[in-house]
Order: sequence, then C-alpha cells, then structure tokens
Amino acid sequence: MRGLWVLLALVTAAKAERVFSGDHVIRVNVQSEGQIQLLQALEAEQELDFWLHPVSTELPVDIRVPRSSLSAVREYLDAHGIPFTVMIDNLQDLLDAEKAEMEENEMKERSSRNFNFGAYHRLETIYSWMDTLVSQYPTLVTKELIGRSYENRPMYVLKFSTGGTKRPSIWIDTGIHSREWVSQATGVWTANKIASVYGTDASLTSLLDTMDIYMLILANPDGYVYSHTNDRMWRKTRSKNPSSRCRGVDPNRNWDAGFGGPGASRNPCSDSYHGPSAHSEVEVKNVVNLIKSHGNFKSFISVHAYSQLLMYPYGHSCSHIPHHNELDSLGRAAVQKLTSLHGTRYKVGSICKIIYQASGGSIDWSYNLGIKYSFAFELRDTGRYGFLLPANQIIPTASETWLALKHIMEYVRDHPY
Ligand SMILES: [Zn+2]
Repeated sequence: MRGLWVLLALVTAAKAERVFSGDHVIRVNVQSEGQIQLLQALEAEQELDFWLHPVSTELPVDIRVPRSSLSAVREYLDAHGIPFTVMIDNLQDLLDAEKAEMEENEMKERSSRNFNFGAYHRLETIYSWMDTLVSQYPTLVTKELIGRSYENRPMYVLKFSTGGTKRPSIWIDTGIHSREWVSQATGVWTANKIASVYGTDASLTSLLDTMDIYMLILANPDGYVYSHTNDRMWRKTRSKNPSSRCRGVDPNRNWDAGFGGPGASRNPCSDSYHGPSAHSEVEVKNVVNLIKSHGNFKSFISVHAYSQLLMYPYGHSCSHIPHHNELDSLGRAAVQKLTSLHGTRYKVGSICKIIYQASGGSIDWSYNLGIKYSFAFELRDTGRYGFLLPANQIIPTASETWLALKHIMEYVRDHPY
C-alpha cells in the first residue's frame, strides 16, 4: 500500500507544472572582456538559464535566476564589481498572467467560433485552425504531413501553391525553439496573411503565380506541447538521452553544418546540447528530407525570438560567406521596411558577428546546400519581457515582420538563380 502512495506521489510530481515563483530575470550590460569571462564561468558553474549568453560587449546578457540561487548570484556579481538590473522580478507573475489570458481567450473562441490571431494557442488549436485555412482557400493552401516527432505527433507544413510541380520555393519555419512563442504565433498570422492577400495584393499574387511558399509553423511540436503543459521555459526537443537524466536536444545546434563545434554543448543537460550526431532529431531530419527531395528551394527563413535581429550565415564560422554583401544589403532593406511600420529597431549581420559563434544551425545548413537566401529572424522584444512577450504584441510583431518577409520574398522572385 505504501508503495502505491509513493508511486502516486511520483506520478503527481511528474505531471506538475514547473513553477518559477520568485525567479528573477536579470540583465548585465557587459563592459569588458573580463566580465564576459566571469559570466561565462558563472554559466558553466551554476544551473542558471541564460536567455542571452555572455559573448560580446555589444549585447546584453539576460539570466533567469531561480529564487534559490539569487543570493549566490548577487554575491558573485557584487564581488566582481559587475552591475546588473532586474528586468523581471517574479517570473511566475508573468506566467500566471499569460495563462489567465490564454484561458479567457479559449473561452471566447469557443463561444464565438472565431480564431483570435492576437492570442497564443495550443498545438491542437493551431492544427485545427490549419484545416480551417485549407477549407477557406482550397485552391491555394494544402496541409502536408512531413513526418512525425519523437513523441509521434504529426508535423505539418502549409503549402501555398497555384500549380506546377517543384516550382522555385520559399521555406519559412517558426518555433524550432519551443519557448519562443511569438515565433509560432507570427507563423500563424503570416500564413493567414499570405492566403488572404492572394488575388488582391498584386506583388504577392505575381509571386505565387510562379513560386510556392512552404510554412512549418510548429517545427518542434513536442517541445511546444511541453512548454504549455510542464515547463514554459522549455527550448529543446523531448528526445531521451540514453546517458543522461536530462532530455532533449537543441534542434538548432543539430544540423549538419559545423556540427559539434563552438557555441553548442556536449552536455545533454545544457539548453544548447547538440545531440549525439547531426540530424539525430527526427524533427530536423523531417525538414532535411523534405528540402532535399524537393530540390528547388531558393530561400530558407527560420524565425526565432527574441532580440530584434535579422541574420544570415554563417553561425559556425566567422568568415564571410561568398554572398555576404548581397545578403547584408537585402537584410538591411528588409529591416527598413519592418521598422517603417511601428519604429521597431533591428540589427542586421551574420550570426557569428551579430550574436556569437554557434554551430549546427539550420540556415548554415541550408546555405551550404545551395539555398542562397538563407536568413534567421529574432523577433521582439529586446528583453523587457523576453520569451514572455504579451499577446497584445503578437499582431504588431507579425505585421511588421511581414513587411520584411515580403521584401525578401519579392527580391528572391526578382533574382532567379
Ligand atoms: Zn531560438
């Protein structure tokens, strides 16, 4: 009998959602190389969740500090004379507000039967909305199964096509890192936008008359579900690591591009664990298979959050790619369009130069495959809310991002190669 109670307690504990009461998110505006090294040492030692890593004096470092580590971290920073500010003083407050808003929205959507693009949604809701979109635009949009996730969830792409076979195509994925919720929400809004302006927006119409667009909105479905049910801060896949109690691989360190190099971890408990081998994650492999078998992608765009950046290859190396100048000026022009809507400022550059050397990233892989127009976005914000961007910023974020995406897509249409 006692064994049963223990078992029950364990099951309950396993199901319980992780709480972040009293957790702070602090920011350090790094002033010197020495401070970067001290912060890197802190990252290696403590079980802290670095939202932005210590890499350069150009960019801030954001750290989620659990309540239990607050005094130790404070002492460490004070002892080394490193000033910091508190961006979020109780993470759980933001999570509670987010959850309450989601639940309220779910009730509204159930009674009105209207999908609210300005809200965060669960996987099942997004999947059933995809069916609605396909039924609204049956001659333009199809939903295609590209494979299944580690936990056997279907992975769907939305394909926007007016005919032909294997036309020159554009790839857009969102949500490869599950906790970056504004990314998936922007994907949903964008898919609806593409479908609804076809036939009225002359430029997008001409694009879709000769090209196809593929969108993978939930690139990491298991992680996305887990970020709703168990741990809002979950970033990785949910695969088991045989040698470790920690689960998951960073799916954006798992691509066959400088795999296992700098900026990825070999520790399965790290949030940037690269996995046992390149393309070990089935979620990555499914995309690799589709892109390779299709063979005619001209642009590959991956959408993350946060920091407000538009980046091009490489991440695994700091050397210039052959198309550096072209991608740089295309990126700058795209960001100018983005900024024109709400004044949101973006930085543009290669991943390595603008954030840090990071190996095994998807756009390095796509670029090496010959897909010249490979880009990665980091959407809003710059750290006020970080991964907890309030839902009332979804539509402003998606609408400004659309202007940049559209500019890139039009450029790709007008520069065949
Ligand atoms: Zn990301």
